[in-house]
Amino acid sequence: MDHSDGTHDGELTVLYRGPLASCNYGCGYCPFAKRPETPVERAADAAALDRLLAWARGAARPLRIFFTPWGEALHHTRYREALIELSRLPQVRQVAVQTNLAGSLDWLAAAQRASVALWATYHPTQVSRKRFLARSATLRRLGIAHSVGVVGTRDAIGEIEALRADLPAAVPVWVNAFSMTDGAAAVGYYRPDEIARLRAVDPYFEVGLLRLRSRGQSCRTGDSVISVDGDGSIRRCHFDARVLGNLWHDDLTEILRPRPCRRPVCDCHIGYVHLEQLGAQQVYGRSGLLARIPLAPPGHPAADPTAHLARARSLLTPAPDPPPPSRTPSPSPRATPHMP
Ligand code: SF4
Ligand code: SF4
Repeated sequence: MDHSDGTHDGELTVLYRGPLASCNYGCGYCPFAKRPETPVERAADAAALDRLLAWARGAARPLRIFFTPWGEALHHTRYREALIELSRLPQVRQVAVQTNLAGSLDWLAAAQRASVALWATYHPTQVSRKRFLARSATLRRLGIAHSVGVVGTRDAIGEIEALRADLPAAVPVWVNAFSMTDGAAAVGYYRPDEIARLRAVDPYFEVGLLRLRSRGQSCRTGDSVISVDGDGSIRRCHFDARVLGNLWHDDLTEILRPRPCRRPVCDCHIGYVHLEQLGAQQVYGRSGLLARIPLAPPGHPAADPTAHLARARSLLTPAPDPPPPSRTPSPSPRATPHMP
């Protein structure tokens, strides 16, 4: 059932990022480029993944599990096997993963394919467009939902346009705004004509140019979405370092609750799609939210980004800082101002 209205029935989304920090590709800007894992690292990552699988097998609530690794996970048999197993668990509604799509894909035939979604990133410096397009065609043949995306460096715009032209309209293409090393979108990097070209590829491109002022805003992370690392530590999202508990040992009912965002800005898709005010589920539904697959294909009237951009721009005015600690009882998280 697609809870596209934003409600959830005890469903929990786990953004999992284990110790893995290696990749088969060599992107020049990436710290994990061409970094092989050592036997010790492999053992630690495999043990953490086993622990996640054990937890998921015993979970009573509906789950969505999104692998957001540092590096490339599907290069490793253990992650392919984990994806197959998770997809077949009845309590897992979806298992999604960010991947460079470099490896073989035939193993996906063994998965419960309707439960799998891939966030596939095209790296033009590492793979030919022809080879990448063939991977997407294989996914379509297998019936695996996926989006395709690219980092929108200025040099790559022509290639991004060619990628869009070569893919069927049903395959969504997203463009990540080129960002500096601190993760912030590069303000002023794009000329207006370049923004127009990238908007023609990805109708929602401009959302990624905005630094959404998230402090004090209602965000589903920490309530129906959590970030989990290899030792089971639970954080509300990848961007807030406070540990809320441990997935392996703690009672989630003691941990999960609505909380306002504590970060001044949220400028990453895997975070801000959970902001209530952004209403990203109106664009992606529940099933497309993690792997960035909009409900409507480009060109469809429902793909008009105007309303979504207006909601994003409404998040550009900073919310008031939280009040200093006082001796009076704190307001509940729900009482925190949600509007700028
Ligand atoms: S594919 Fe991703 S993880 Fe691998 S080197 Fe490129 S940017 Fe880094
Ligand atoms: S808005 Fe972003 S930074 Fe804030 S809690 Fe949500 S995901 Fe985390």
